Amino acid sequence: MSIDAQRPHFGRVALVGTGLIGSSLARVLRRDKMADSIIACARTDATRAKVLELGLADEVTADPAEAADGADLLVLCTPLGAYADIMTAAGPQLAPGAIVSDVGSAKMCVIRDVTPFLKPGVHFVPAHPVAGTEHSGPEAGFAELFQGRWCILTPPPGTDPTALEAVTAMWRKAGSKVEVMEARHHDLVLAVTSHLPHLIAYNIVGTAADLEAVTESEVIKYSAGGFRDFTRIAASDPVMWRDIFLANREAVLEMLGRFNEDLSRLQRAIRWGDGETLRELFTRTRRIRREVLDAGQDKKS
Ligand code: NAP
Repeated sequence: MSIDAQRPHFGRVALVGTGLIGSSLARVLRRDKMADSIIACARTDATRAKVLELGLADEVTADPAEAADGADLLVLCTPLGAYADIMTAAGPQLAPGAIVSDVGSAKMCVIRDVTPFLKPGVHFVPAHPVAGTEHSGPEAGFAELFQGRWCILTPPPGTDPTALEAVTAMWRKAGSKVEVMEARHHDLVLAVTSHLPHLIAYNIVGTAADLEAVTESEVIKYSAGGFRDFTRIAASDPVMWRDIFLANREAVLEMLGRFNEDLSRLQRAIRWGDGETLRELFTRTRRIRREVLDAGQDKKS
């Protein structure tokens, strides 16, 4: 493994999970020649066959232990709920000096589920590339996914600085801007910027689907009125999002509490004809949209 910040290089990389994120990372590792070899681990025959067909890995396996054997870098890219079982199998196979990382959307739970399986000398650098689409599977990935996006690293106290540098260099090479953050803070920030918006989208699409006075065909026909944008988010992978809400329960509940209070305030403003409260909020939110655009965070990946 060499940690030249410009040209990071790993010997054998194991990607456990090769869906949207894992396969995008495989494409980056290939494109930038960051690995001598890649072994991909997936549950189903279909995914493993597709990975080989797309040339995303040199080898495939269904067994996380086999993937971990001899790996210099192992990256967990499955839904969060699978981490503990994967590490039960993979942990004992990792040699001292190996690095474990991941791409999971919540971080406290990752530290909880992975740390018990790390042998002495195995380094751990949790990571979250804040990039994605509503599509899943190895065919959905593309190497430019991480370009211009943030990747948040949440190294626990005492993390080996060289391992941290290696993972940082890999994500920078992928085109990401890297930020280091405490895991608890990450979970709070992502609860409001990602998890709550997804919950709202799932809920509003569900509410519309359940309405008896409005037919489903009308919901679809007139969706350009705003509903359409929620349906894109609400099409995100059900298992992945189930796991995120269960994993980041505390932070999501905290943000949901605040959201409900603010929603009640809007409800009251509408009830009492308080247009000034509505206009003031909508003006503020429009400014935030402008800031998102100015920060380059609404370019299509
Ligand atoms: P995905 O496209 O659905 O792919 C999931 C992969 O994990 C597949 O290769 C699947 O293999 C494998 N897998 C699923 N359950 C497993 C299990 N129980 N044991 C072993 N392997 C299993 O998912 P993704 O969108 O890449 O998300 C992966 C991770 O990235 C999640 O932790 C998520 O929080 C994080 N993330 C996602 C996004 C996003 O927008 N999608 C953004 C940032 C971070 P099979 O196909 O063989 O079942």
